[in-house]
Amino acid sequence: MRSDDTIFATASGHGRAAVCIIRISGPQSLTILETLGGRVPEPRHAAVRILREPASGESLDQALVLWMPGPRSFTGEDQAELHIHGGLATRAAVLKALGAIAGCRPAEAGEFTRRAFLNGRMDLSQVEGLADVIDAETEAQRRQAMLQLEGRLGNAAERWREGILQALALLEASLDFSDEGDVPEDLEVDILSRLDHLHAEIEQALSNRGGERLREGFTVVLAGPPNAGKSTLLNALARRDVAIVSPIAGTTRDVIEVHCDLGGLPVVIVDTAGLRESRDVIEQEGVSRARTRAQNADLVLWLIPPGGAETGAPPARRLLKVGTKADLDRSRHDCDLFISASTGEGLPELIAALEHEAETALGEGDAILTRERHRKALERAHRSLTAGRELLAARGPLELAAEEVRLAARAVGEITGRVDVEDVLDRLFSSFCIGK
Ligand code: GDP
Repeated sequence: MRSDDTIFATASGHGRAAVCIIRISGPQSLTILETLGGRVPEPRHAAVRILREPASGESLDQALVLWMPGPRSFTGEDQAELHIHGGLATRAAVLKALGAIAGCRPAEAGEFTRRAFLNGRMDLSQVEGLADVIDAETEAQRRQAMLQLEGRLGNAAERWREGILQALALLEASLDFSDEGDVPEDLEVDILSRLDHLHAEIEQALSNRGGERLREGFTVVLAGPPNAGKSTLLNALARRDVAIVSPIAGTTRDVIEVHCDLGGLPVVIVDTAGLRESRDVIEQEGVSRARTRAQNADLVLWLIPPGGAETGAPPARRLLKVGTKADLDRSRHDCDLFISASTGEGLPELIAALEHEAETALGEGDAILTRERHRKALERAHRSLTAGRELLAARGPLELAAEEVRLAARAVGEITGRVDVEDVLDRLFSSFCIGK
């Protein structure tokens, strides 16, 4: 994979369509546009051109073409776009013509975005935000992804990193002082208060888990004895009352789950009907996956059929007891809700309860962290800041305190992919006046 190749790929979906968009990025973009479409339009102005096969001159399609010179392009490189007709043969013919041009090759997965990152057009958190925008299935997910794409997480991380590096610069300066004698007390107080402040802000961000859960969906597991009515409930929900985002996936051997959109919130409902002992290795794998899923679920619906056991529910973070087949009998006590998948009774109430539970768990969409990667990096930063603070407060070796603070800066930098501590430190140092 060479980064000075010119790459191309269809940017629109697969299958027959009215229009298909082909993106081209790299040094040859301009020549390619000229070779296929003749006169190149003004930068960022659309123009209609007949695309021709370079060798034979045969016309391939009538297209809308765009020329977007770098660095003001998505990838930061020279880019071109061909909006061709979306017929399968048209698409194949244009892609074939592009592939025949020397130095021009199909893009690898994610290569356009990778180039955008390498050319400094977006940071890592924005790259993830972009992926999430494309994957967003519900309104709340879309909003969160857009905020990340626009830099909410990246800006916070950069602000923390700058703050940590400022504290580090002061610490390094006091290292010089300590050669000559004691660190001035007001300098030490200043460093400690800076670290305290950052420590508290990072702790606050870590305490909100709503972002990760919103990204992954609020998971509801249907559990209960065989014949409790789990599959029937899942089907009833899927058929009538909730907006299903994905079709029912999986096989009888695996976990069956449905992704739905409840008032803009992503809710994944998982049927663990396949939870039974088995000698089949593949089936065992499915069962163990279902068990893990139940344990990690945000909510378990424990389905109790008429005459069924009200005890024996699996361990769960949160559990609602649902009496099923209410059309037959509703004499069970101790149930939070009664439903009948046959008559539809109680389903609206159940859906409202799910929506309420999801809303409570996913929060207001104000979480900054949206992935485990962010959390892991920030947890490391938090630990290092704690250690650095303690060393300072206990008047431990300043070098060790400085090293911890340096580690914290690096960990925070992983969020945006900016981990080069030294260059920023040089810049900061030159602007500091310590009064020596
Ligand atoms: P699972 O093993 O928990 O998935 O249970 P199923 O969904 O397969 O249901 C077991 C049996 O109960 C099936 O014969 C269903 O038709 C029946 N059943 C499920 N829900 C209802 C209901 O609300 N009312 C009645 N009368 N029968 C139901």
